[in-house]
Amino acid sequence: METLGSLLQHNLLQESFRDAWTRLLESSAKFHVVTWGTLLLYLSSYYLASLPGFIYQFIPAMKKYKIQQDKPETWEDQWKCFKMTFYHIFTLHIPLSLAVYFYVEYANLPCDWNSMPRWYSAILQIFGCFLIQDAWEYFMHRLMHHKTLYPYLHKVHHDFQAPFSIQATYAGQAEILIFGAGFSFGTFIFCHHLFSLWLWVVARIVQNTHVHSGYDVPWDPLRLVPFAATSRFHDFHHMNFHGNYAAIFTWWDELFGTDKEYENYNARGRQKEMKEHDN
Ligand SMILES: [Zn+2]
Ligand SMILES: [Zn+2]
Repeated sequence: METLGSLLQHNLLQESFRDAWTRLLESSAKFHVVTWGTLLLYLSSYYLASLPGFIYQFIPAMKKYKIQQDKPETWEDQWKCFKMTFYHIFTLHIPLSLAVYFYVEYANLPCDWNSMPRWYSAILQIFGCFLIQDAWEYFMHRLMHHKTLYPYLHKVHHDFQAPFSIQATYAGQAEILIFGAGFSFGTFIFCHHLFSLWLWVVARIVQNTHVHSGYDVPWDPLRLVPFAATSRFHDFHHMNFHGNYAAIFTWWDELFGTDKEYENYNARGRQKEMKEHDN
């Protein structure tokens, strides 16, 4: 049973969100709200979601959570990634934000408050998007590791053996567009409102920067979610180059046995720990 206090709080929260949303829509022409809103949302989410992983390197107590202890992030590598993400703004993200506007316009995607999905259906829609993205990414990623395609499509992303969060989108444009197709499939199927589309943008960025953070922290909520790919899971792909091709859920790798090397690696780690404990 909801108490009166929580009900009032809920209503207050909803009302302030409704006011903010309506003000945003009325603040400028639809073109500006959708195009620049999408771009700003993308960029702020990307850099904000990368921030924890970036800050960890300056905190000595966080060192023990770094997954590949022997490969700390360097300024040179991070600067290299930052420059590439900056370059992508002009070559990818501005054109893609324009594409979002044209999609919203021509698919007649509702933007108004009244047709906004309820929070629980928005969560379900994002979950559906993740399912599609994950399956698409698993098979495309495996394909990109084929020796004839790898040098042209995926080599850049493997420049660093130990990932760090700002490195999440350090990749060639073709790779970003191919993986991005999975993003659009989810959007077309599940996101029937501008809010869902924007929520999907944020969720995808947070998930992608998280698995590239290079840190496995004990408070990671994904540790409690069955079949969720953690930062440790994707880190292994960068370290080992083979296996763990999915980066959202682990089931495709389990089904096709592409997580075997990871399982063996973990088993060896546990054995080593037990031996050290016994001595
Ligand atoms: Zn790869
Ligand atoms: Zn990666």
